[in-house]
Amino acid sequence: MNDPHAAEPALTELLEQARQAALNSYSPYSGFRVGAALKLTNGEIVTGTNVENVSYGLTICAERSALVRAVAQFGPKIRIEAVAVANLNDAASPPCGACRQVLAEFAGPDTRVAFPAADGVRTMSFAALLPMAFDMKLK
Ligand code: ZN
Repeated sequence: MNDPHAAEPALTELLEQARQAALNSYSPYSGFRVGAALKLTNGEIVTGTNVENVSYGLTICAERSALVRAVAQFGPKIRIEAVAVANLNDAASPPCGACRQVLAEFAGPDTRVAFPAADGVRTMSFAALLPMAFDMKLK
């Protein structure tokens, strides 16, 4: 299912929460202020922001920051219904590859993901965002 299209109305509030989370960004090196909001299937919304580090490689993205917070708050059985990403730089910011793989652990193929693209906010299914995610199915 390859279905990029305009932001769904149901995700408008989630996008606003992601934008609010971006206000707390710790990004002194890049100045790229990103926020993410996860809507969980238990109805809760958990936000996160990017936290940079002077050693650069230890930086954590807003999406993973939100996910770690969600598990810490609600436990290992959480499932993600929708993801919204926003930034304060008026730039495209689809989830990076690392975040897609980490979110895949708690998302389903129909999980909705909204993010700023070059041509405006896009909403996609998780299956379209990360086809062939790594999985470890042992025989
Ligand atoms: Zn990322």
